[in-house]
Amino acid sequence: MTEVAPVPNQAQDKPARKGPRGHVIIHATWCKGCHICVEFCPTKALEMHPSGNHPIVVDQERCTACHFCDTHCPDLAIVVRKLN
Ligand code: SF4
Ligand code: SF4
Repeated sequence: MTEVAPVPNQAQDKPARKGPRGHVIIHATWCKGCHICVEFCPTKALEMHPSGNHPIVVDQERCTACHFCDTHCPDLAIVVRKLN
């Protein structure tokens, strides 16, 4: 099982987030690359890896822990843990 580390947030001057946030864990070796999570993430926190094989987190701060991605992933390859 391979976990893909989130890409560091490049934006240094973003205002502090309010509301729920999520920590996204991607199990790349379980992923079939179907794009469901990326296409339907409402905050565009995810993109496909350039290889097209699995998603990556492009901005962890955008994740609102809505759980769309992990509840719809057919391979249970993405997990979101809600942060306080
Ligand atoms: S939990 Fe929601 S906001 Fe967070 S990555 Fe998944 S679909 Fe996007
Ligand atoms: S929904 Fe699941 S299988 Fe499809 S690309 Fe996302 S992590 Fe991979």
